[in-house]
Amino acid sequence: MKLDQFPPEMQAAVIPKVGGRYQYRCLGCGELHSIEELLYTCPKCDSVLLIEDLEWKRLKEVPGKKWRKIFDYRKMSNLPALSGIYLFHELIGSILDLEDIVYLGEGRTPVVRANATMKEWAGMEFYFKNDGQNPSASFKDRGMASAFSYLNHLINKRGMRDVLAICASTGDTSAAAALYASYLCGSVKSAVLLPGGKVTPQQLGQPLGSGARVIELPGVFDDCMKVVEYLSEHFSVALMNSKNAWRILGQESYSYEIAQAFDYEVGDLAVVAPIGNAGNITAILAGFLKMLDLGIIDSLPAVIGVQSEHANPVYLYYLEPEKERRQFRPVSVRPSVAQAAMIGNPVSMPRVIKLVEEYRKLAGEESVRVIQVSEQEIMDSMLVANRNGHISCTQGGECLAGIRKAAAENKVDKNRTAILDATAHALKFAGFQDKYFLDTFEPEFEIAPKKEMRNAPFSLQLPESVPSPARSTLGPDEFRKFVEYSASVIADVLGLKRLGG
Ligand SMILES: *Cc1c(COP(=O)(O)O)cnc(C)c1O
Ligand SMILES: [Zn+2]
Repeated sequence: MKLDQFPPEMQAAVIPKVGGRYQYRCLGCGELHSIEELLYTCPKCDSVLLIEDLEWKRLKEVPGKKWRKIFDYRKMSNLPALSGIYLFHELIGSILDLEDIVYLGEGRTPVVRANATMKEWAGMEFYFKNDGQNPSASFKDRGMASAFSYLNHLINKRGMRDVLAICASTGDTSAAAALYASYLCGSVKSAVLLPGGKVTPQQLGQPLGSGARVIELPGVFDDCMKVVEYLSEHFSVALMNSKNAWRILGQESYSYEIAQAFDYEVGDLAVVAPIGNAGNITAILAGFLKMLDLGIIDSLPAVIGVQSEHANPVYLYYLEPEKERRQFRPVSVRPSVAQAAMIGNPVSMPRVIKLVEEYRKLAGEESVRVIQVSEQEIMDSMLVANRNGHISCTQGGECLAGIRKAAAENKVDKNRTAILDATAHALKFAGFQDKYFLDTFEPEFEIAPKKEMRNAPFSLQLPESVPSPARSTLGPDEFRKFVEYSASVIADVLGLKRLGG
C-alpha cells in the first residue's frame, strides 16, 4: 500500500524514524561500551555483550495497542527496507537509516499448522515456523540482515573500509554470512571456517556459490570457533558469529513475528527451539521480554529449548534445580544428525543464564525448560513431520521430538499450542534422510531405521523384448509398446483399478 493511502493518523508512524542510543552492555561486569567500534567481548572482563537502547523508555510512552497497530499497518507497506525484520525497526535497529538496511527476503516465515495426525502423534497442537524459507534456507538470515545492515551503516556513515567478514560455522552461519556479504561485494569480502567433513554438501556449496573464501579445518565447530576468535582478537576482521551481539538483536524478530502471527496473544503458546550455540534461544527470550515491557503482549509464552543427548551442555546445566548450585561445564560432542546444534560450549550461555532468570522471575520457574532427546527420536520425528506436509530439517525434528517428550512427561501444558522452529530447510539435511533410508548410519549415531519409515525408488526394468528409449530412439509402434508395458507394471505396483472394469 502507498503511504498516502494509510489512514492519516498512521502515516507518520508507518515509516520509522531514526532514534535511540545503542550501546553494548557487558553481561560480566555490566560496563557499557560504544557501538562505534566492532566489539564482540568486553575489553575489561572478556564476557559476552548484548545491545541495549539507553533511550528505551521513550518507546514506553507509546501504548502497546498503538505498537500493535503500527506493526500491523506497516506490514501492508511494500518498502523493501521494512519488508523483513525491520518491520520492527524501533525494537531492533532504531539507529539505522532505512537506506542502510540490507534486505534479502529474510524473516516473516510462514507458520504452518500441524494436521490432525501430527497433533495426535505429538500429543498437543503445534505449528512449524518454516525458517527454511529464509533466503539462505535457515533462521540465521535474520541475524545476518541485522549484522550486515549495521556494517553497511558503518561503511556508509563512518567511512569504514576494507571489511573482511569472517565466521566459524556448523554450516548455516557461513551460508548466511556469505550470502549477505556477496550482496555488499563492492565493500565487503567474506571468509568462512568450517569443520572439514562436518557440514552437509549443500551447506558447503552455499558459501562457495556466494564467492566466499572457504577454509576447512580439522576438528569440530568448537575448534573452528577458537581459531576465528583468535583471528578477531589479532587481526582486523568483522566477526559474524553470534558472539556479535547484532546477530542476536536481529534474530529477536522471530519472537515479534510469532506475536504478530497470533494477533499478539502468546500467553498460551509454547515456543520451542533447538539449542546449539544458544543464540536463537537468547533472542527468543529477549524478544518476548521486550514486547511484554512495551505492553505489546500482556503475558509471556512458555519457552522450551531442546538438545540432543550427543550435545547437551545446556540441558545438563538446568538439571540442577538449585540456582546457586548450577555450574556450567562444556561437553565433548558426539556425532549428531542435529548437526547445526552440535555444540559443546555455547558462546551465548551467559546470555541464556541471565535471560532465563529474568524470564522465570516474570513468568514462573516452569516458563523456561530444556528437554533432552535421542538421535533416534530426532530422525524419526523429522521423517514423520515431512510425511505430513512439513519441510523440517533435523533440528526441526529435534523440536518435535522435544514437545512429544515434554507432552508425554507432563513437562508442558498440553492445552498450549507449540510453535516449533524448523530452523532450516529439509533439503540442507537430505544426506541424513539418505542414511536413514539406506540404513548407512555410522554406529556412533545410534540410529536404527524403522522399516515402515524407510522409502526408496522403485526402478522399473524392461525385459529385452520391450523396446527401451534408453537404448535407441523409438518409432511410434515401439514407443507404444514401451508405454503399455511400463504402465502395466506401474499399475501393478500401485494396485490401480482399470477404468470401466
Ligand atoms: C545455528 C542453527 C541451530 C542452533 O542455533 P543456536 O542459535 O546456535 O542455538 C539450529 N538449527 C539450525 C538449522 C542452525 O543453523
Ligand atoms: Zn565486562
